[in-house]
Amino acid sequence: MIAPGSTIGILGGGQLGRMLILAGRALGYRFHVFEPKGPCSAGMVADLEINADYDDREALRKFAEGVDVITLEFENIPVDAIDFLNSIKPVYPGREALHVCQHRQREKDFLKASGLPCVAFEYADSATSLKTAIETIGFPCVIKTAAFGYDGKGQIKLSSADDALDPTSIWERLGEPPRVVVEKWIEHQGEFSVICSRKLDGSMTTFPMAENIHVHHILHASIVPARTTEAVRAEGEQLARSLAEKLNVVGLIAVELFLDVDGKLIINEMAPRPHNSGHYSIDGCHTSQFEQHIRAVTGLPFGSTELLRPTVMINLLGDVWGDSTPDWAGLLADPRVKLHLYDKGEPRPGRKMGHYCVVADSTEEAVDAAERSFDALKSS
Ligand code: ADP
Ligand code: MG
Repeated sequence: MIAPGSTIGILGGGQLGRMLILAGRALGYRFHVFEPKGPCSAGMVADLEINADYDDREALRKFAEGVDVITLEFENIPVDAIDFLNSIKPVYPGREALHVCQHRQREKDFLKASGLPCVAFEYADSATSLKTAIETIGFPCVIKTAAFGYDGKGQIKLSSADDALDPTSIWERLGEPPRVVVEKWIEHQGEFSVICSRKLDGSMTTFPMAENIHVHHILHASIVPARTTEAVRAEGEQLARSLAEKLNVVGLIAVELFLDVDGKLIINEMAPRPHNSGHYSIDGCHTSQFEQHIRAVTGLPFGSTELLRPTVMINLLGDVWGDSTPDWAGLLADPRVKLHLYDKGEPRPGRKMGHYCVVADSTEEAVDAAERSFDALKSS
């Protein structure tokens, strides 16, 4: 066990790292952040921020020597850097989970090989093979770059063969990536996610399933409890647990799911770290996903993941700023609103700047209040 008072190293300096630190501080841990570009959101609340590239061995060594255990808040970290760090201090979630989850094709190959439900897919590494892949999958479909995509970036949806884009211009628009995955577009009743935490000894907990609303491919809201059946919730939790086991995760794994029109859950993607759709747990659960991650990587006993009351989380993207500062007083006029801002500087459109939660007596009430608060925020 890595006892409170020890120092935890975090790779990546975004808001997920920031919230990990805020949760871990309450348990008495110290934090060092490694992030190529500073100053960063997590660095603002850390004991030490190191700004260097992931291929800077000297900086990585210093970082590793200064901490007791290493974890990450961002999955696109070169596996070479992970291997190097791991030769000095333990790194969680570990290379296997990271290697699979940082590349859409490996992720899908893994799901298929494990017999887990995933969308029909083909991959391509040129405009010519893209044409064949689109023909095989059919319409509607979505083309995603295999690496480095997030928040809908690096994705193009084709609704029908009439879409004016030919494979060559799609390839150019995606920046001529080394590889893409072409997926069948799933007509679905809803999107859901489950976060599972796992320790080195194999013990696990899951958080209540979230129902997620996306706008322009970016998460807008999470509603918990998810408005679906108990059977769907149980199946989602089971899928998250089997992924955590098969990938040997230590820490968290989040699984994003579609519920298709026939009522079947299909895995969209997974992330071996805290997840945006788990932010509700800070205000809604006995233990947050961030605290649970800290407990997992340090070997402390897990906290209860019980949902205390219905909770709705709303993301605050840079778009909310428009020409003026959002009306924070208007938002907080409802005393049930809990605001979290990430201190990220410039509010660019699509950039995640913060979120808020509404905790209420019923799901309907939480949804209504969250919507009204969103209007209040923008009304100034
Ligand atoms: P990101 O890494 O950007 O989160 P995702 O693959 O999760 O990428 O895509 C973002 C969102 O786009 C999904 O949550 C979903 O709303 C929509 N989407 C992506 N792929 C599909 C698909 N195959 N069928 C239906 N919707 C999809
Ligand atoms: Mg996603």
